[in-house]
Amino acid sequence: MTQTTQPAPAPAGIVTQERRPELSVVIPMYNEADNLTLLVEKLTPVLERASDSFEVVFVDDGSRDGTLEGLRRAHELDPRFRAISFSRNFGKEIAIAAGLDHTRGDAVVIMDADLQHPPEMIETFMARWREGFENVYGQRVDRTADSPLRRMLTMRFYRLFSNFGEMSLPPGAGDFRLLDRKAVNALRAMPERARFSKGLYAWIGFRSIGVPFEVQERAFGESKFSYRTLTRFALDGLMSFSTLPLKVWTYVGTVISIGALATAVYFIFTTMTYGADVPGYASLIVSIMFFAGVQLMSLGILGEYIGRIFAEVKRRPLYLVGERIGVEGGDSPMPPQRPGSSGA
Ligand code: UDP
Ligand code: MG
Repeated sequence: MTQTTQPAPAPAGIVTQERRPELSVVIPMYNEADNLTLLVEKLTPVLERASDSFEVVFVDDGSRDGTLEGLRRAHELDPRFRAISFSRNFGKEIAIAAGLDHTRGDAVVIMDADLQHPPEMIETFMARWREGFENVYGQRVDRTADSPLRRMLTMRFYRLFSNFGEMSLPPGAGDFRLLDRKAVNALRAMPERARFSKGLYAWIGFRSIGVPFEVQERAFGESKFSYRTLTRFALDGLMSFSTLPLKVWTYVGTVISIGALATAVYFIFTTMTYGADVPGYASLIVSIMFFAGVQLMSLGILGEYIGRIFAEVKRRPLYLVGERIGVEGGDSPMPPQRPGSSGA
């Protein structure tokens, strides 16, 4: 946490920690006990081929099944598999952020626990990384593993985002990727709560390249994301990378006012020419309802942003760790202070 003394440089010759691995893998887990054994089994040979030193950091996102026990066992069998466990469910985005905080590798791979992301791809990712790419993302070639409705909504969202967001997202790119240490530190320097990681990955830049892969069927269990959580997520993404929803109301308001003015002129003209027309309830009611609707809508949009500002200014820790399995690291779950302060 806050440092009261200057951190003394580690004296040469004293080994404070085991060797830093070259490759770290971050895997968020929410009720994935069934997938764990198969995952470890498939991952181990691939990682041994991909690098001569690796670690896997599982993040148990408040699972209520046997995930945590499984992770303890996995660590006992092979200490290269480590884990942290949250005090409750904080969501996948935050689980990934916590995983990144606890990795030490020069290259960090992020993947799902359900084997939808084929582990063999890690070898290709590493090859690209060794060529000098710092942000190597897996690109889904088809989304047939998702339901048609989800696919359609996803497509709509991407189109909306590329039209209105600060930058465009590469199509089909998700969390399955390899990040260089530099990119990881850049992500860790962004302690925002509403984490739309697809946007963050694109925002940090670095030398990026896509590697196509085919999404597999989920090994066990079912998707943890309902349409409700996905909608929330899409809204977070749009709101944290676009101010258009705020600004659009200026234009809408202007157009409506001009229309109102024109209508007024028209009414003055007709009244003077043809005399007053008594009835007019219908148009009155309609216009009152219309303006009330527009005002409530713009208030709602302001509320969405203000709610997000509120969530950020509270400065709560991003996550709380309940247990560490083979993972050292500061006890502070606070967002990291500016990492990588060395270098230009
Ligand atoms: N996940 C998580 N916390 C959550 C929901 C999901 O850590 O609150 C993890 C989950 O265990 C899996 C990954 O995020 O490793 C992707 O989840 P899922 O397969 O349910 O999502 P989908 O593939 O449908 O996008
Ligand atoms: Mg999945």
